[in-house]
Amino acid sequence: MIEQRLCQVREMMKRRGYDAVVLSNVPDLRWLTGVNRVFDTERAHTVFITEDRLFLHTDTRYFNAFQEKLGENSGWELDQDFISHPAWIIKRAQETHARVVALEDSLSLKSFQQIKRAAEDESLALAHPLMHDALAWMRAIKDADEIKALQDAQDIADEAFTYLCERFDVGRTEKEMQRELDNKMMELGAEGVSFETIMASGPNGANPHAHPTDRKICKGDLVTIDFGVRYNDYCSDMTRTIAVGEPSEAHRHVYSTVLEAHLAAFAAIKPGVSGKDVHAIAQDLIDNAGFKGAFGHGLGHGVGIEVHELPVLSRLADNLLAPGHVVTDEPGIYLPGDCGVRIEDTGVVTEDGFASFARSPKELLVL
Ligand code: ZN
Ligand code: ZN
Repeated sequence: MIEQRLCQVREMMKRRGYDAVVLSNVPDLRWLTGVNRVFDTERAHTVFITEDRLFLHTDTRYFNAFQEKLGENSGWELDQDFISHPAWIIKRAQETHARVVALEDSLSLKSFQQIKRAAEDESLALAHPLMHDALAWMRAIKDADEIKALQDAQDIADEAFTYLCERFDVGRTEKEMQRELDNKMMELGAEGVSFETIMASGPNGANPHAHPTDRKICKGDLVTIDFGVRYNDYCSDMTRTIAVGEPSEAHRHVYSTVLEAHLAAFAAIKPGVSGKDVHAIAQDLIDNAGFKGAFGHGLGHGVGIEVHELPVLSRLADNLLAPGHVVTDEPGIYLPGDCGVRIEDTGVVTEDGFASFARSPKELLVL
């Protein structure tokens, strides 16, 4: 599988006329090398790929781990030389006679200028086209190993959610419940959380990205729980909204509308449909149920090594879905001062539809 990823990069190089590709975006490097549990949030590495050579520049903190994980015959030429990343790139370009060296759009302006300057200092005729998210689009299509990692992550999340539901009680705070959930996920083997767990009760649920507070959960509250597990460097992402005590009729109506929108979008996800068409199905349904203006965010996003990846499902997303894309379906209704409801599954686009990784029930749970 890893060889195929490299083949895709080299095919792109050929097609676009690149002599070399420079990468430093950590999720891209994780994907390309297949090295797990070494990368973190630091942009400490640069990769230089040509038609027949693979260079990886890192530092002393990671060198041994790379050596061990990549093994003897990986083809990667590793170094931990004390040299700046721009100077290292220019050195590799000189060594391999690469003149069209493609860069990633996610480079900082500062790094981009430093690379340009380093080439000028060496009087090197270097063209540096931008790749326009080429790697991110390759990463959007998941292979079997990645699907397995995503399912494993979700399995932990589902089990932790079942456990959490048994522990909800009036008087417990959002922060307490967040800690219960996070601890359980770690206990079940999570390497971390995909993002800060959202535990939003009562009116706090009206903020889609609420941070947990000391608010005590009250009888009749709806509680939105949006959370994910990081496992083998891959993320899960799921949201459930539960009721603590019998909810009002009005809240039941909000819930059933969101569920209907979620299921309608779910049924529409398949190869060839655009992100905006799927979004519109959920949006129209919510708008027409009398909640116009209450669903303001996009319907979904890709999930993989990062919790937000390509493709995108939103008002503006022209991208077409394809088999192997892993996306979320997460409509919501947010009523300021009152409540919020969101229901989210992550799943994979199949040959003719969509299959969720999540197994937690979607009917309203009244605890
Ligand atoms: Zn989520
Ligand atoms: Zn999400």
